[in-house]
Amino acid sequence: MAYRWPAGRVFNRLTLDVEDRSCPVCGRYMHVCDHRYHHLWTFQGATQVINRLVRCPDPACESRGRTFSPEAELSISMPRWCLGWDVFCWLGHRRFARHWSVPQLRLELHDTHRIQLSDDAIETYIGRYQTMLAARQQDPAQLVEAYRDIESLVLTIDGLQPEKGHETLYVVRELMRKRVWFAEPLWSSATQEVRRLIVVARQWAERLDKPVRAWMSDKQDAFVTAIADEFGGVPHRYCQNHFLRDMAQPVLDLDSQAKGKMRRKGRGLRAIARRVLADRRQAAASAPPLPQESPQGDGALRIDPSEAAMAAPGAPGALGVATTGNAPVEDEAGEVVLGYCAAVRGILNDSQGGPLRPPGFRMREALQDVRDSLERNLQAQKGGLQSRC
Ligand SMILES: [Zn+2]
Repeated sequence: MAYRWPAGRVFNRLTLDVEDRSCPVCGRYMHVCDHRYHHLWTFQGATQVINRLVRCPDPACESRGRTFSPEAELSISMPRWCLGWDVFCWLGHRRFARHWSVPQLRLELHDTHRIQLSDDAIETYIGRYQTMLAARQQDPAQLVEAYRDIESLVLTIDGLQPEKGHETLYVVRELMRKRVWFAEPLWSSATQEVRRLIVVARQWAERLDKPVRAWMSDKQDAFVTAIADEFGGVPHRYCQNHFLRDMAQPVLDLDSQAKGKMRRKGRGLRAIARRVLADRRQAAASAPPLPQESPQGDGALRIDPSEAAMAAPGAPGALGVATTGNAPVEDEAGEVVLGYCAAVRGILNDSQGGPLRPPGFRMREALQDVRDSLERNLQAQKGGLQSRC
């Protein structure tokens, strides 16, 4: 995949030389015999690397015919790549550590660094980055180093299916170092297929010469069988994550019932709000009309503050709407009641939360906060203010 440079492109030039010019066989000074040009993008811009190639001048030397390249060439880029290592590493880091999409990467390269790459080219280089990363992760010497201080291993296996209809990616991880050992896409979860991965895991553990303390998985039949065969006597535990996920459904079902009960208790809220507004309308009708605000005032009165609260649950906006009515400050008690109604309505309509903090649980806590707040106000007023709630 050759990169096509636009005509007239100006390059930064970088000339590289072989460091040791003496022939490795006879020791004579080697002469430049040819140039190799490499055009690529670095963060310094479009760059032309000129490699000055050398060879031994002695036709009788055993190194005859051999050409030597500058050592520094590979520290800039790989042969025939159109990216330097700096851009290459930037791409890989942004893609995998920051989860940028390919179009995002393309635009950022173009806008900030004036580097023009197609989506295809970016995908190709990201593929190479992945290959290099996987090779490094699986490098036996690296592994030995990483596991130097680890006494024993805890292994997990799980299948991930990013999209329906695609093959499932089986991942074997080691938990003491929190390291992905290897991953392989499989079309079937048949015991034979899975067993192959378990065997590879056993070979890895043997190579590291560390005992396997436990296995963890979602306990699919294929995992259970293969692990029992290949790792006789090693405990196989249920993965906490899967355990929690499987527990979550009945818990959430119960939580939803509790939520329904609390909602039923909260009925009558609308009637209270309506009563406050009706009282206000009456008060406004008996008061002398204010000519300058008649068109706007009438319109604002028809807005149900509790409806406004529904649009923004828990927001104090309902109070703001209420004050645009015809009785701005006179009905202070009504204001407070509408505020509480809006808050409770917001709480009852909120369905956020997960298995560790279910929505009903959050609702109960929030309602308790409202109860406490009412209690505090009543105490402060020593019964002076009659709340209609
Ligand atoms: Zn020589």
